[in-house]
Amino acid sequence: MYKSVTIKIGSNVLTRPDGKLDLERISHITDQIAELHDQGVKIILVSSGAVASGRSLVSKPPKKDPVSERQLLSSVGQVKLVSTYATLFDQHGITCAQVLVTKQDFRTREHYLNMKNCLSVLLENNIVPIINENDAVSVTALMFTDNDELAGLVATMMNSEALFILSNVDGIFNGNPSEPTSVLIEEIHNTGTDLSSFVTTQKSNFGRGGMLTKGRIAQNTAAAGIAVHIANGTKPGIIADLVNQTGEIAHTKFLPGTPHPAVKKWMAYSAGFTSAEVTINQGARDALFSPRATSLLLAGITNISGSFKKGDLLRILDHNGKTIGIGKAQYDSKKAEEHFSDKKFKPLVHYDYLFLFP
Ligand code: GLU
Repeated sequence: MYKSVTIKIGSNVLTRPDGKLDLERISHITDQIAELHDQGVKIILVSSGAVASGRSLVSKPPKKDPVSERQLLSSVGQVKLVSTYATLFDQHGITCAQVLVTKQDFRTREHYLNMKNCLSVLLENNIVPIINENDAVSVTALMFTDNDELAGLVATMMNSEALFILSNVDGIFNGNPSEPTSVLIEEIHNTGTDLSSFVTTQKSNFGRGGMLTKGRIAQNTAAAGIAVHIANGTKPGIIADLVNQTGEIAHTKFLPGTPHPAVKKWMAYSAGFTSAEVTINQGARDALFSPRATSLLLAGITNISGSFKKGDLLRILDHNGKTIGIGKAQYDSKKAEEHFSDKKFKPLVHYDYLFLFP
């Protein structure tokens, strides 16, 4: 039985085909969570559905522009969504809390630890946090790809034993799920499987995310040491089945890798916050990915683009221009350039502050 889980619930699980909140389903979800909560399982919810529930409340949404529409629908809908949860949890004597976040709240380590503190204090007091992105004030260009990304971040930050990503499909298939020949994949390793070769990029009706982003988030989160289950949230008893690991309901599980140290967990989600880019040669790439703990020396760097200060995060690209990791600079770009030809100068990125994508 898992003792701590982060559960992401997609808009498609919470809404009916007509777009209204599916009260019966939400009630069934809260019943399962309440029972597990009473058994001592620490549960964090990441719930979508604000925009969808806003749509059912505002009969004529403004045709102004997509941003204003999202702001209006999410701010109206979030109230309804969380009050629905609160009423249902209340029937079980459980208190829940609303935590609305933006991507910027995870930007610096200080912000990140502040978020972590908030969720920790809620859990310590037996309160179920219900997190959503603050769609009303988020700047479009700086938003999470979707709530799956947010949920992966939260699960990693809070060291949940498992992350459940619940939508209205059964999991990841080896082809288009609507085709009869496609088969559900029950287990995926956290590295080495290229999901884009068989997962369709098709998006769901009400939410922002698609199966490919779900799969990628799942893979990254699993690589950080958290078991990830992508499952169908519309199936009765699914949450209890996953927590108890009964395995009765078919779904996709991503096997967890070795847990990352805390600082690397934060870095794993910081690709959007880097100050500069460094390109490395093939030899350096091979060395970084070898089983030995290896720091990044200037000797392995072929190009630095952008300036940075000591402590800034750097995006690390391989010789093909592919982002392979994030590292924290041990000194500034001026010093790096001054010592560029000095093969023995201390590493630009120390291994302890280097995160490599799986
Ligand atoms: N935050 C959005 C909402 O609550 C959903 C984002 C997503 O679909 O992942 O409506």
